[in-house]
Amino acid sequence: MRELCKTYRADSGSPLHACDRVDMEAARGEIVALTGPSGSGKSTLLHLIGALDVPDSGTVEVDGREITGLGRRALAEYRRGVGFVFQRFHLLPTLTALDNVTAPVLPYRTDFDKRARARELLESVGLGERTGALPSKLSGGQQQRVAIARALIGRPALLLADEPTGNLDSGTGKEIVEVLLGLRERFGTTVVMATHDPGVVARCDRAVELRDGRVG
Ligand code: ADP
Ligand code: ADP
Repeated sequence: MRELCKTYRADSGSPLHACDRVDMEAARGEIVALTGPSGSGKSTLLHLIGALDVPDSGTVEVDGREITGLGRRALAEYRRGVGFVFQRFHLLPTLTALDNVTAPVLPYRTDFDKRARARELLESVGLGERTGALPSKLSGGQQQRVAIARALIGRPALLLADEPTGNLDSGTGKEIVEVLLGLRERFGTTVVMATHDPGVVARCDRAVELRDGRVG
């Protein structure tokens, strides 16, 4: 990210710099924690990296490609190559773990065996024995593992996570970070993760602190 800016209008009408000239980078395979108090701009930054939102100015470059200038079609394709994980797991309650993981795959994709890939991903996150379980039968940590496996079904090089341990106790939160470290080991996935859990930050390669939309 170079000189990245996003300004909202606060309720008072004055401009609110949610992202204020942010310069930041993550190396391939790096696990970066975005820290800072609530409202410091962590979600905004993740949304800008994932092209869920458009910056007012500045650039985002991923894998040598500048995404800020892409058209609609190219942007949609870019988004499919990014995995997202959220604080709430957003699993579909009537589907098994396996079917939740395959859910994002477009129906016409027959170039790979999506169930085999989902099974393998569930194994990678330590849920190989629970592929047939409904979300209601899984603990919070297990549900987040399913959500992580789902985020990886498109084999993204980049995983963006917004407070992925925010709904979990600290022990379970640390396990989730171990899962992410394992994915880096196995697939080389780069992870950028908003968190204010110190136990989680400690396990990341690097922390970038935001304050009022600014780094540092
Ligand atoms: P964090 O993730 O660190 O809690 P956010 O990125 O959610 O921070 O928010 C940064 C600032 O931008 C906050 O002051 C928030 O209220 C404001 N903000 C975020 N999204 C919007 C929006 N859609 N409209 C107006 N203000 C917003
Ligand atoms: P291949 O090129 O034979 O698929 P890879 O080493 O690229 O071999 O991948 C091994 C396995 O890991 C494959 O089954 C693939 O689906 C899975 N995989 C590879 N990269 C990722 C990724 N970034 N996210 C999730 N799964 C992946």
